[in-house]
Amino acid sequence: MDLVKELDRKDPAGLGCELHGFAWGLYPICRSITGEGIRKTLAAIGNVIPLELVDVPTGTPVFDWSVPKEWNIRDAFIKSPAGERVVDFQKLNLHVVNYSTPVHAIMPLSELKAHLFTLPEHPDWVPYRTSYYKEDWGFCLSHNQMLALPDGEYEVSIDSTLSEGHLTYGECYLPGRSADEVLISCHACHPSLANDGLSGLTVATFLARFLSDLDLRYSYRFLFVPGTIGAITWLARNQEATERIRHGLVLTCVGDPGGFHYKKSRQGSAEIDRAASHVLRHCGEAAEILEFSPYGYDERQYCSPGFNLAVGCLMRSVWGTFTEYHTSADNLEFVRPQQLAGTLRVCVGILDVLENNRRYRNLNPYCEPQLGRRGLYCSTGGEVIPEDVNARLWVLNLSDGEHTLLDIAERSGAPFRLIRDAAEALSQAGLLAPVADEREEASVSDFGT
Ligand SMILES: [Zn+2]
Repeated sequence: MDLVKELDRKDPAGLGCELHGFAWGLYPICRSITGEGIRKTLAAIGNVIPLELVDVPTGTPVFDWSVPKEWNIRDAFIKSPAGERVVDFQKLNLHVVNYSTPVHAIMPLSELKAHLFTLPEHPDWVPYRTSYYKEDWGFCLSHNQMLALPDGEYEVSIDSTLSEGHLTYGECYLPGRSADEVLISCHACHPSLANDGLSGLTVATFLARFLSDLDLRYSYRFLFVPGTIGAITWLARNQEATERIRHGLVLTCVGDPGGFHYKKSRQGSAEIDRAASHVLRHCGEAAEILEFSPYGYDERQYCSPGFNLAVGCLMRSVWGTFTEYHTSADNLEFVRPQQLAGTLRVCVGILDVLENNRRYRNLNPYCEPQLGRRGLYCSTGGEVIPEDVNARLWVLNLSDGEHTLLDIAERSGAPFRLIRDAAEALSQAGLLAPVADEREEASVSDFGT
């Protein structure tokens, strides 16, 4: 099945708007690594795709970590000496340092300033700050807002709770013909940040919806987890199941106007690394391939040496390199419908390679078979050989049972789609036969879900 062709049957402009609209609905929610915000977000994802929510109690040991206390917040503000809410959580949830402990106090500006965070280099933006693992409280505001605060006594209030509860993550499993899995993971813990957070979970949600009614080779597991601790928690609870993961992608920062970046897995030349690099080379947009490094998103956990899974990370602009990163300017104007739809299409292209990448054997290996008599050699195209005929010659030449279709695509310079179509036409003409994988794919019924 040609997954990209299936996707292209849908109206791309409409799809982009649908994705952006979904992100729009989730933007105001105050998410964190635990609490009602992430649960509300997962519930909204669960309205689009079948999603199982898993609650893991505070204190549960997960490898070298333990599940933190659950954080919830209802309201927060700073009131000026004149009684005015000069910093208001209700207007923007970034105003509160995420995971702030509760506080209600009156204090002079000089004392309050120790708890205020601003971005002097972007004086109108509000920074995003967290304090997950150190109990503290604070407010984020624009630098200009802070400069305008008069001296005097301020009332500060953070109506939050930090107590025993749960860490919640969401899991969507789509069974395919094989029990071997493709993992798609994204973080769902950032509050009102559109590119670093909402873009990844939006594309993942709609990718799962797109795949859910297709007949697929692989089984797919989508994880919507709080960053770092969520991936660690999932891995700790599913250590054995990771043996079924053949390929994986972390999706993040995929809605901004920047070109694509793919960060390779720790393995470096895994099939997912080659598939992603190949698709990006032919996607028609600027794209760069990055080597693995042990910092970044949850690929850090999936690629830790004990697991060493073939999981790469697909981004547009790389975290930390765009000025809007972790600020109020990472909003829904920064993330665009067209870019979200374009990322979805690239993801589908990568999965199309994984779904269709196989080895074949040329059944007529002594000299070229006569393609013309089989309607496979159209010679009316002039001097230059048509690309589909050229692709057939490449497939015939390299189908010795050793080369995969992706190997052939890379060596010929042709896009995978052309090579795959050539293999299909040659198989139908009886010139090519698929070779069984050396590693037999176990069927779903051998494992259950
Ligand atoms: Zn972030």
